[in-house]
Amino acid sequence: MGLGFEVLRTGEAGGRRGALSLPHGEVQTPVFMPVGTAATVKAVPQDVLEGNGAGGKGAQIILANTYHLYLRPGHELVRRMGGVHRFMSWSRPMLTDSGGFQVFSLSKLRKISPEGVEFRSHLDGSKHFFSPEHSMDVQIALGADIAMAFDECVETPATWERTRESMALTHAWAARSKDRFEAHKHRVPWHEALGGQTQSLFGIVQGGMYADLRRESAERLVEMDLPGYAIGGLAVGEPREVTREMIAHTLEHLPKDRPRYVMGVGYPDEIEEYAKMGVDMMDCVLPTRAARHGLLFLREPGSSEITRMNIKKKEYAEDQRPIDENCGCRVCSRYTRAYLRHLFSSGEPLSAVLNSIHNLAFYLDTMERVRGELGRGDSDVDFAQAESQNRRSGAGADRRVSP
Ligand SMILES: [Zn+2]
Repeated sequence: MGLGFEVLRTGEAGGRRGALSLPHGEVQTPVFMPVGTAATVKAVPQDVLEGNGAGGKGAQIILANTYHLYLRPGHELVRRMGGVHRFMSWSRPMLTDSGGFQVFSLSKLRKISPEGVEFRSHLDGSKHFFSPEHSMDVQIALGADIAMAFDECVETPATWERTRESMALTHAWAARSKDRFEAHKHRVPWHEALGGQTQSLFGIVQGGMYADLRRESAERLVEMDLPGYAIGGLAVGEPREVTREMIAHTLEHLPKDRPRYVMGVGYPDEIEEYAKMGVDMMDCVLPTRAARHGLLFLREPGSSEITRMNIKKKEYAEDQRPIDENCGCRVCSRYTRAYLRHLFSSGEPLSAVLNSIHNLAFYLDTMERVRGELGRGDSDVDFAQAESQNRRSGAGADRRVSP
């Protein structure tokens, strides 16, 4: 018990309007998940996240990184603090990645064996070992609602042979992840407090940029009968058409009654496009990372095109307008481009805070709009009924069915 997923409506292009029930609450999908790397969405306090964007409804679910929290402050410390929700004072749903991607992208001197990965910390050079079993132990101690199977991320570009070899390792690790997870899932810090509920373990489809391998990977993972599936190893430098093609191809081979999550994408127009193709969940550091570099997303009045504004440009020095005139976020309703440019140019910490709040609101609003579009039409009535039923039953609290 730990996850329920209901597809309320499917659009013509495959996009799905759904509801995901997790131990810490219900998530309306498709959803964008802000990345809270070290148990913080950089520069944005939790109370602001809760009310930012999407008509003031805020972020429904956020992500934290296993690799970072394992190294600092340590997963056992987080467990002693009651788990990551209580540690960071965030009561809504969370997801942790497996640590695999960071081990492969950040750490030094990796040594990969069938057993796991030996690596040196990017912080202090200390030596560590991650296996599927260890990743599960760390993720169970952290206690997010959703945990991810430990996977190997192949370098790009990689040959078909190399990619297939890596994919096979990922499948073996997924099976070991599941075994460990099933044996230890009751150790999650909130197990008793939340009526015996547990986390849910998602598998990760790999297969690089090869359609046949993506299919094989999806089929092997579906045989493991997991409550949700992610598509990993994309947006790693390949052209956007390839990303889209791999997503479309992989979605065909994933079960329609389980949530489908594309990891690490993308620009606002990409998340909209993938959501309309049938992706239910996405995460990306882009809105907050770009914000810290002074790059802001907006739509010019009367345009549906997304504009990228570089706030440090001189042309904004005396611009009295908000970043985006159609944005209802607390930054756009209060501050001018002139002031935001001044903060950025002066290196003021508030610059990162305000820029991040606006960019996140832009992403959350984008998904709120996509949900509205997917929920529109013949089955709008059904959707409204489902919503009101949810409210009557306490927003999904009594509605947790395992798929
Ligand atoms: Zn705004």
